[in-house]
Amino acid sequence: MKPLLRVMKFGGTSVGDATCIARVAQIVAKASLESGVVVVVSAMSGVTNRLVEAASRLETGDRSQAATLIESLRAQHTQAAEALIHGAAQRKQFAARMEEILAEGNRLCEGTALIRELTPRTLDSISSLGERLLAPLAAAALEELGTRSEAIEATELIVTDPYHGGAEPLMEPTHERSEARLRPLLEKGIIPVVTGFIGAPSDGVLTTLGRGGSDYSATILGAALHADEIIIWTDVDGVLTADPRLVPEARTIPEISYREAAELAYFGAKVLHPKTLRPVMPAGIPVWIRNSFAPERAGTKITPQGRSIGGGVKALTAISDVALITVGGPGIVGVPDVVGRAFSTTAEVRANVLLISQSSSQNDICFIVSSADARRTVEALRRQFAQDLAHEKVEHITIDPEIAIVAVVGENMRGTPGVAGRTFNALGRENVNIIAIAQGSSECNISFVVARGAMQAALASTHREFGLGAPCSN
Ligand code: ADP
Ligand code: ASP
Ligand code: MG
Repeated sequence: MKPLLRVMKFGGTSVGDATCIARVAQIVAKASLESGVVVVVSAMSGVTNRLVEAASRLETGDRSQAATLIESLRAQHTQAAEALIHGAAQRKQFAARMEEILAEGNRLCEGTALIRELTPRTLDSISSLGERLLAPLAAAALEELGTRSEAIEATELIVTDPYHGGAEPLMEPTHERSEARLRPLLEKGIIPVVTGFIGAPSDGVLTTLGRGGSDYSATILGAALHADEIIIWTDVDGVLTADPRLVPEARTIPEISYREAAELAYFGAKVLHPKTLRPVMPAGIPVWIRNSFAPERAGTKITPQGRSIGGGVKALTAISDVALITVGGPGIVGVPDVVGRAFSTTAEVRANVLLISQSSSQNDICFIVSSADARRTVEALRRQFAQDLAHEKVEHITIDPEIAIVAVVGENMRGTPGVAGRTFNALGRENVNIIAIAQGSSECNISFVVARGAMQAALASTHREFGLGAPCSN
């Protein structure tokens, strides 16, 4: 019989310091007694943010930033290594690898400060340093427990397109490389510890999969190796009925479908990177979300079908770093093909459109894009419609950055009448004004646009209305 294979990914807080990394090593060592394990690690929490911020400051030419950054990474990882690694030879080996990576980081930073330009390619290389430092440290922590382990950079395994900052995997070559590199290790009982977040096109220049992309790395490798399951270890008990930081009564959902989890991730539930489920969908590989700080808890199982809890609504999510763009106003009537031209413009500037709503007048549309895409989208739209609207005195393309989307998600909402009505009533009772509303024909998601300041009240009242804080009945 083919032995079981699990891919286990540990996020930033799960590898946040030496104590956490030691806990992770225990979890992996225990699992390796029953199945093959491939480990995927993020950077220590906060490290990638620091790298990205420091990289953008280097553009001003301030070279002292580079030295400060490299020194702080060295101190943080050395401190963790001293607590985790006891053998002198092993410590020396880790220190040597760390110095190689830091020297590379230093060259990248110095170069950026010198030419005062941060290319997407260099930003990717600088932001990858956290994962590259963590993998050898986690591998060493496993060796301390007597579990054979080897750190591997995902540039050797995950083949991507060359799009820096959000590369897409190419599954066929990724499958071939992962099999060739990882299978022999697994057969010898050696646990590969792979850097999350990164990959490389065939020319070998490092790419990243986008912020939070280690979840995606885990499912890419899981699918490439035909793993039996993927476990994403994080700092909460699973997928909850809402973000517990915003709704303290939120509860863990025992089982949820791919589609529901994907909707939640797409609309801001940070627990999963939005693309996480894509690679595992064709083969139906289950994905677990579990708490590395409480490994005795079952967590959430994400499966092709999920499991019904009755009542339709399963969870809520909200996304606040978005902006509402409106193309409309009286003068726009008569401008030809407003809708077609508006969306070909958003496509041209690669803006991610999260929600679209159109009023009964055909020429009045509003849509939502990520805050990061907002300015360049509005500029492009103004250019697109400049000639049509040159004689108009009012601005027809407006932007409102102070908004949020709240989404109500559940596959069984299909065929459950009154979900939108109940949400309206609940929001009405709290005096939350709804700016726009959208429901896809799948009826798996109803999304409301509200003022950003009202987001938390909207979540709390909707959570209460659908009884999501009550113990799960399944
Ligand atoms: P990691 O570092 O392990 O990748 P993240 O910070 O990226 O962890 O994701 C976990 C966080 O996601 C949780 O701490 C929680 O605040 C947030 N989150 C948002 N929505 C949800 C949800 N519906 N269920 C669980 N966690 C959620
Ligand atoms: N370390 C990366 C980030 O912070 C990837 C991840 O954590 O998933 O974006
Ligand atoms: Mg994450």
